Amino acid sequence: MGVVGVYGVQGASTVIFYGLHNLQHRGQEGAGIVTFDQEGCEHRYRGLGLVNEVFNPGAIEPLKGSIGVGSVRYANVSKGGIDNVGPLFFHHKAGDFAIASDGNLVNSAQIADWLWKRGDIFQTLTDSEILAHLIKKESDEDRIGNIHSALNMMEGGFTFIIMTRNRLYACRDKYGIKPLAVGKLGDGYVVASESCAFEIMGAEFIRDVEPGEIITIDHKGLRSRQYSRFQKRRMCAMEYIYFARPDSDIDGCNVHKYRMEAGRRLYRECPADADIVVGVPESSLSAAMGYSQESGIPYEMGLIKHKYVGRTFIQPVQEMRELGVKMKLCPVVSVVKGKKIALVDDSIVRGTTSLKIVKLLKEAGAKEVHVRIASPMMKYPCFYGVDTSTSAELLCSKRTLDQACKAIGADSLGYLSPESTRESCFGCADPCQACFTGEYPTALYTEDED
Ligand code: AMP
Ligand code: SF4
Repeated sequence: MGVVGVYGVQGASTVIFYGLHNLQHRGQEGAGIVTFDQEGCEHRYRGLGLVNEVFNPGAIEPLKGSIGVGSVRYANVSKGGIDNVGPLFFHHKAGDFAIASDGNLVNSAQIADWLWKRGDIFQTLTDSEILAHLIKKESDEDRIGNIHSALNMMEGGFTFIIMTRNRLYACRDKYGIKPLAVGKLGDGYVVASESCAFEIMGAEFIRDVEPGEIITIDHKGLRSRQYSRFQKRRMCAMEYIYFARPDSDIDGCNVHKYRMEAGRRLYRECPADADIVVGVPESSLSAAMGYSQESGIPYEMGLIKHKYVGRTFIQPVQEMRELGVKMKLCPVVSVVKGKKIALVDDSIVRGTTSLKIVKLLKEAGAKEVHVRIASPMMKYPCFYGVDTSTSAELLCSKRTLDQACKAIGADSLGYLSPESTRESCFGCADPCQACFTGEYPTALYTEDED
């Protein structure tokens, strides 16, 4: 999921729309925006689909005000539907507020259970609604104190942007698993999941929100508060590998540079005897470039991506995913015919994509296809908001390298090591690699359903 917040900028909703547009890769199920106008009245709109589909100019114009939040949603089947499309808005006697969120709490069931017993009722079981119950003010208590205590009850990988009538709070989990950045726009401020949103918003990157930090933005400017002394830097490795856009800098490391370096290391660890290097568009192109540079094997455009089809993985049902791969990629026959190909991809999750692409290339006349993956074998589920919820779905959870190679029909298969995955960050982070290593940075409260 992707979140955007704007403070102190006239026409905040238009700026948020542009920000969400650049975060579209983080979620395609739905999008929403909530603003407060000068009188403190809220305006909100949300819908299912892409940002452009949900927000035509007629939908944005009524969202008045210079403060607002927005989000794009990515969901699996069980959590789909309009009710869960954020940001969620809450009326409260002590002040209305809205919450946009990314990531996933691992102890939401436990907190919800406690809230239920306390008599609270819910419309959704989203993390935003749980947070709303935890931070609602009793009388004139300090809101930041409640946010501080609530975040300390929450375990997981998450970011929240909380908006009241005159303030934004930008919060990041204490492990630093999910990204969140702050920028400056004129006399105001912006917050976004990735710095690539700032460019189109016309904003300038200031810094990342730190793990365990709450940044308050209001008429006094920008203030910082650490809600936990426990502070780690375990940014999600999959953000660098696949999720984030190459033009984003996360925790001091540019995503494209990360992928190039991973590609170079991949060649050193898993060389292939090939005539050409082909990257799987789009997220693997930087890694394929790195692989080609390091090996001296020419980079070729062996696959073309159909521009008007969404990401296959994000479509929740397996049959749709399978059809999605066919609709999305075409081999360039004259480039691949008769060639030994080093096919570089960023990751293998269920194996659907690799199986289809190897088959496509072979049908197009490729002599050999050597698959090289710019990340380690994915063996474990993610509990921090990425849709790989059970081991059973993962190609490699119970397969050896040879078995995985056979399963995707490749002539050989090689993966990057966890050490190189870490080193590719140029030392600026020690990323979470739990889906590769099984070493989860947080406590876990959920059993893997395998
Ligand atoms: P699969 O066909 O399930 O093996 O999907 C793997 C492809 O989906 C890779 O080529 C990635 O580009 C992309 N991918 C990897 N991880 C994720 C994820 N967590 N969410 C969405 N797409 C992903
Ligand atoms: Fe990212 Fe994998 Fe860690 Fe999940 S388990 S946060 S996908 S690195």
